[in-house]
Amino acid sequence: MKRILVTGGCGFIGSNFIRLQLSEYPEIEITNLDKLTYAGNLENLKEFEGHTGYQFVKGDITDPELVHSLLDSVSFDAVINFAAESHVDRSILDSGPFIQTNIVGTQVLLDAARKHDVNRYVQVSTDEVYGSLGPEGLFTEQTPIAPNSPYSASKAAADLLVRSYVNTFGFPAIITRCSNNYGPYQFPEKLIPLFISNAREDKSLPVYGEGTNVRDWIHVMDHCRGIDAALRKGEPGQVYNFGGHAEMQNIEITKLLLKLLDKPESLIEYVTDRPGHDLRYAIDCSKAESELGWKVETDFQTGLKETIDWYLDNPEWVNRIRTGKYREYYEQQYGNR
Ligand code: NAD
Repeated sequence: MKRILVTGGCGFIGSNFIRLQLSEYPEIEITNLDKLTYAGNLENLKEFEGHTGYQFVKGDITDPELVHSLLDSVSFDAVINFAAESHVDRSILDSGPFIQTNIVGTQVLLDAARKHDVNRYVQVSTDEVYGSLGPEGLFTEQTPIAPNSPYSASKAAADLLVRSYVNTFGFPAIITRCSNNYGPYQFPEKLIPLFISNAREDKSLPVYGEGTNVRDWIHVMDHCRGIDAALRKGEPGQVYNFGGHAEMQNIEITKLLLKLLDKPESLIEYVTDRPGHDLRYAIDCSKAESELGWKVETDFQTGLKETIDWYLDNPEWVNRIRTGKYREYYEQQYGNR
């Protein structure tokens, strides 16, 4: 596993994954293909500019010419696809880019990787493809796919394409499905960085519905270690779930954030629920634990405190990102709060 093509490496999870690879494997050579959408930020990896094991290519995974020529020029041992439109609320406003990047982009990558006999392909997917749980039970890798948002439907479609390439062509692909990530470098439209940034400025924290939706939170580095384990030890054709063993209602996490930030609960503002909002996600990751030797290493409270500190210590990163496109979207979604 020497030469790896990472797509979407300027986003939240991809940039943390590249940081992990370059720090753990001195011989590794990473090419990062990223379109730099509103969510892609070169600053996330600026410490690696000029690093001999790191190359950035600006480009779109839906562009077959570009992707094929990249795979012609370098003999990659593996392709890991993080590139995606990743925000559920944006998919409700306009699903078009989700279909293009998440589905068509995956097909372009699969075709190019297959043509170039790449040894391993990892599709980074989400627990949201399984749909919603009631108060009991966990998603396993056998849970039927039943997505409820345009985002999760586009991710599920990509997973099914990957599955079809495994079964039709014997293509050596692996799918990973993970629960909600938190940690440094997450775009502040997602719940945890949004609420930290708003609370810091004494702005209201918009909580959907009654805040009773449950998510399982995992530190991004635990997820990245899981993807690394799937890449190096996973069996082609298999699906591996990753989760953080940290289920929480949105309102519980909101109150915890306010407590850790020493801000009043009066900042909470209940807003109209997201249409089709999944009630609960919870993951059974025993397969990854037993077959990949992976386990969660970050205790949720500790990870959350460190994450808060990272956002408080990096106000320039947050402020630069919160201008331009992010502001337009934020105002459309939440008005002038
Ligand atoms: P992100 O939105 O932070 O980053 C996505 C990256 O992909 C950005 O750098 C963006 O510029 C790039 N990109 C978008 N369209 C592209 C295109 N057409 N061509 C090339 N690059 C493109 O997303 P994230 O939170 O880091 O998520 C990464 C992956 O992990 C996604 O596939 C997502 O579905 C999956 N995932 C995310 C979570 C989570 O909690 N964030 C959980 C499970 C799975």
